[in-house]
Amino acid sequence: MSANPSERLDAVTHAIERAERIAGRAKGSVTLIAVSKTFPAEDAEALIAAGQAVFGENRVQEAKAKWPALKETHPHVELHLIGPLQSNKTKEAVALFDAIHTVDREKIAAAIAAECARQDRRPALFVQVNTGEEPQKAGIPPREAVAFVARCREVHGLAIAGLMCIPPVEDEPGPHFALLKKLAREADVAGLSMGMSADFETAVSFGATHVRVGSALFGTRPKPDSA
Ligand SMILES: *Cc1c(COP(=O)(O)O)cnc(C)c1O
Repeated sequence: MSANPSERLDAVTHAIERAERIAGRAKGSVTLIAVSKTFPAEDAEALIAAGQAVFGENRVQEAKAKWPALKETHPHVELHLIGPLQSNKTKEAVALFDAIHTVDREKIAAAIAAECARQDRRPALFVQVNTGEEPQKAGIPPREAVAFVARCREVHGLAIAGLMCIPPVEDEPGPHFALLKKLAREADVAGLSMGMSADFETAVSFGATHVRVGSALFGTRPKPDSA
């Protein structure tokens, strides 16, 4: 891995552009979310200085400690929640995040809808699908995903931007990305949040619109945390 953040960002950006080209997709059709979880604000700031404007965090508390000051100095920066959301954190999440990738149950959809109305905020919303049907993993089961998106719209009045998945670590990711794409088509949503450091190029070839890349940009995390 290259020595400094700006070289790492260049390497990942070029890899995405190459994957876009090979897949016959327009340059810039994939948004890179730089996942700064477990890394300090200075590391995120170094990437902002290198030109990165979209970041992801997986814990509301950690993001609250790190990002309000960064957002104040860099108002153009967009922050995405990519980790599980508890309903008692919905108020803080809607206030801080520009996108939430982990809408996965009725209760959280209702809580987000209520907070969006109260705060007059409209974060972009992705429904997380548990494509590997892993018991320990968040996300709605694939067979319920399309109906859940419909309920988000019809019952809760939420606009859903897309679907998100985290394939099981031991599986080939391709079939999971293909399943997510098929479900997105059925649910009539355009966004596909899929692909991490190990498989973002594969995800781009399967149509990812958002890739969530942490370690390839920031280095190895002290503790593995794939949640
Ligand atoms: C940590 C995390 C990522 C980034 O993982 P890397 O392998 O470090 O790129 C992506 N998505 C989610 C949901 C994560 O929790």
